[in-house]
Amino acid sequence: MKSNVLIIHTGGTIGMHPSDQGYVPVAGFNELLQQRLSKQAQQNLPHFEILEFEKLIDSSNIQPSDWTRLGHTLVEHYPDYDGFVVLHGTDTMAYTASALSFILQGLDKPVILTGSQIPLIEPRNDALDNLITALVLAGNYPISEVCIFFNGRLLRGNRACKLRATGFDAFDTPNCPWLGQAGIHIELQEHLLLERGAPRFLVPDFNPNAVSLLHLYPGMPGRIAEQLLADPQLKGLLIRSFGVGNPPDKNRELMEALKQASARGQVVVNLTQCLQGKVSQGAYATGATLNNIGVVPGSDLTVEAAFTKLHFLIATGQPAPRIRELMQTPICGEQS
Ligand code: ASP
Repeated sequence: MKSNVLIIHTGGTIGMHPSDQGYVPVAGFNELLQQRLSKQAQQNLPHFEILEFEKLIDSSNIQPSDWTRLGHTLVEHYPDYDGFVVLHGTDTMAYTASALSFILQGLDKPVILTGSQIPLIEPRNDALDNLITALVLAGNYPISEVCIFFNGRLLRGNRACKLRATGFDAFDTPNCPWLGQAGIHIELQEHLLLERGAPRFLVPDFNPNAVSLLHLYPGMPGRIAEQLLADPQLKGLLIRSFGVGNPPDKNRELMEALKQASARGQVVVNLTQCLQGKVSQGAYATGATLNNIGVVPGSDLTVEAAFTKLHFLIATGQPAPRIRELMQTPICGEQS
């Protein structure tokens, strides 16, 4: 029997049309796809239905509330389908894939995000290939996690980053091998996939002001951190420091602001600005200072995974000490 896949269209280039102002999201993806897919191709694909969001967005407008909406949609339809494809803009796809991985823990079906760099409406595009292969993966393969499929690569969603603004090979997982590749044949690295789980879904309402991100730079005034951390709604801050997690420890104002924040119960997590490798807080004396003031090392988490994980843990009401612990513990393959 054919498997049954739900395609959820949230917006993004894949379904956009040209306008005077550049590409804009347009409804009617199903009709367009029917024009582009021959009857014969459809017969050889898993059966699918398309659910199109009423408000389609350019994903650069994504809000944490959109993760909640998408999470609820997936949970609502979960029992009725064998797998899911989420059509999403590439700009923030890695954030949404990461957020969904925390919301939908213990998956026993595939949830595959995809999109494209050129819209399906254009004669030359990467949309059809990305969509068709994502559909085949979602319908026919034993994947039990949130993935991104793009340009022949099957990637763990919460390890992925958009690395190229214009290349078809927009996504990669700098700290994790690809989970599969689609060339002439589809080959999965089954030993790398998360084990089939028992669903433990939790779709929280996020406070968009709860988490912020500070990219450190030479000469940064410490008061920038102080001002950011003074917001009473801010519960978590990601800092991006240099190399293996080294901050400018001679910047007294900055270090004091981070220390006070941790003492007040705000969770500060240290990530590296490097694309590859992990934080080793203490390899250098500069980094070791963070260990003494309660800043948590973020291992090899991507910014997207760290940001959504921190949001998720805060939104689900975990106390600060537990959040600090969990930020250092892999919960769904997001860190080594
Ligand atoms: N701006 C678009 C979006 O993220 C880019 C894309 O989809 O490739 O929605």
